[in-house]
Amino acid sequence: MALTLKIPPVKPRRGHCAICRDPCKLALQYLWAVCGICDTRAVTAAHRPAGGNNGFDHGENPVYIDGLRCWRRYRFGVHVTMRDFVGADRLSAFYVGWEAAQALETAQRRAKRAGKGPKAPTKKAKKNPLKKKRST
Ligand SMILES: [Zn+2]
Repeated sequence: MALTLKIPPVKPRRGHCAICRDPCKLALQYLWAVCGICDTRAVTAAHRPAGGNNGFDHGENPVYIDGLRCWRRYRFGVHVTMRDFVGADRLSAFYVGWEAAQALETAQRRAKRAGKGPKAPTKKAKKNPLKKKRST
């Protein structure tokens, strides 16, 4: 399957709102998540205020915040709004790009950590509790 994924020019940092870039707890869990304050500005394609979850895990999609397209995940009576950095034309297409970007980001973070690799095991070796006490 060919996937053309648009990488955002300025990638929002993990844990920061994808619109205003303020710290956002939701964005720690969901890549490209939008904070609650930005979410209140969400409108439908017809420029009406976007309602929330209708109680049956359905609602408006896509929504627009400051003219930027976002997709919402409606689940458990609530919703998470995520900014569209992939240029998706429907929710399922957004998820394909979103999951790919999430996997890529996780791989990059692991690679970054692996680059600093040898430090951690060295520290652990120094704190070997078996070497502390010696019975006389
Ligand atoms: Zn925000």
